[in-house]
Amino acid sequence: MTTQLICCGISVLDRVWPLPELPTSGGKYHASDYLELGGGMAANAAVAAARLGAQTAYWGRGGEDSAGQVMRQEMAAYGVEVSNFRLCAGVRSSVSAILVANDGERMIVNFRDADMPKDAGWLPLDDVRACAAVLADIRWVEGACSLYEKARALGIPTVIDAEKADAVAFTTLLPLVDHAIFSDPGLRSFTGGAVLNDDASRIKALKKVRALGCRVAAVTLGAQGTVWLDDAGMHRQAAFTVKAVDTTGAGDVFHGAYTLAIGEGQTVTQAMRFASAVAALKCTRRGGRAGIPSRAEVDLLLAEPAA
Ligand code: ADP
Repeated sequence: MTTQLICCGISVLDRVWPLPELPTSGGKYHASDYLELGGGMAANAAVAAARLGAQTAYWGRGGEDSAGQVMRQEMAAYGVEVSNFRLCAGVRSSVSAILVANDGERMIVNFRDADMPKDAGWLPLDDVRACAAVLADIRWVEGACSLYEKARALGIPTVIDAEKADAVAFTTLLPLVDHAIFSDPGLRSFTGGAVLNDDASRIKALKKVRALGCRVAAVTLGAQGTVWLDDAGMHRQAAFTVKAVDTTGAGDVFHGAYTLAIGEGQTVTQAMRFASAVAALKCTRRGGRAGIPSRAEVDLLLAEPAA
């Protein structure tokens, strides 16, 4: 049976302008290309899970504008169910202008509408019943809270993509989460800005996460892999050795893959390895979404003997 998942949170439209070099002053510049690419943590995770074979619904908000339409259409084309990607009247979608120089250097300007409606009362919570696991990011606390409370009541595993956020977002959501997977800046932000440069300091922070009730507390560390803490203590999953050309969306894709693996009933150790393989393969290709591997490609990498 196909695994069903819901991913709730942010969707952003990246408007990408490649240039020979980044501007250093005001003036007019000519881009060599122009791309409109969907991004955002939960939205990318949903695309990854769908690409890997899950029946995935994305729950989130955008504006009733052209960016909202483009994001919805793109996600639907990737096989994500978007009927609860609500385009709200009177507000604008999240967009980023990204200037990319030939040497890969980027300049990013992001816009998020402060008036985006927070209310989550319209979410079809009965749909949670059919899910094997659910994921939310930290950008729509009300939506994540509703999703987690329903999933908890039904005994369905809950996963969070914990990026940089304010303290209230962490204290509201983490007690509802089984698997808390932070980015490195996300974990720093949770601690209020502690220096986390070794295992000891990270474990101290992850212990505080577990004290809020999370069964698994993890931090992804790019090419240094992932460290996590559970009842049995500290564990580590090394990153797969690949020739990385574009790490855009690696963390988002990791979360989508991890949630799928947990939904399939894989152990935490297996899920960490699976998600690391998916994220590593993504890094070998350009594009946050276009670079997501197929399930067959992931299985091939997982079958390789450890180096
Ligand atoms: P984020 O994109 O949120 O900053 P990370 O950079 O920590 O997240 O990456 C998430 C995961 O993606 C890592 O834990 C690792 O498994 C994988 N990953 C990221 N960069 C690389 C890389 N250069 N080589 C192999 N795997 C990578």
